[in-house]
Amino acid sequence: MTTHRTLNEAELEAARTLLSDIRALIDTAAGQDEQLRFALNRKVYKELSYDERGKPNARASLKARMVKAQNGDCAQCAKPLPESDTVLDLLSATGGYVDGNVRVLCRPCDLAIQRGRGFA
Ligand SMILES: [Zn+2]
Repeated sequence: MTTHRTLNEAELEAARTLLSDIRALIDTAAGQDEQLRFALNRKVYKELSYDERGKPNARASLKARMVKAQNGDCAQCAKPLPESDTVLDLLSATGGYVDGNVRVLCRPCDLAIQRGRGFA
């Protein structure tokens, strides 16, 4: 079961301050250029998500390694995985996309697990 650390009230306030600072920096950098504001926002969003999830090609090769390690079968139901539309599932939310913290699931198993976690 995936659990991750939550923020206490003081830490939430620190997160709000960071977000507010970043927005102000983007505002300053974009000036009156709305398209630049959008592009800067998108770039910062993407890079921060890579910090958490890794770059897409690194995730793809990790997934390929895991499928091979699982002999091409879903880690949950053990049925053969389809060629595409599979899910790289984190065992620990804060453990990152690394060997030993991920498994590959078929879509139906992922949906069932997400529902069990209350996320879908
Ligand atoms: Zn499955």
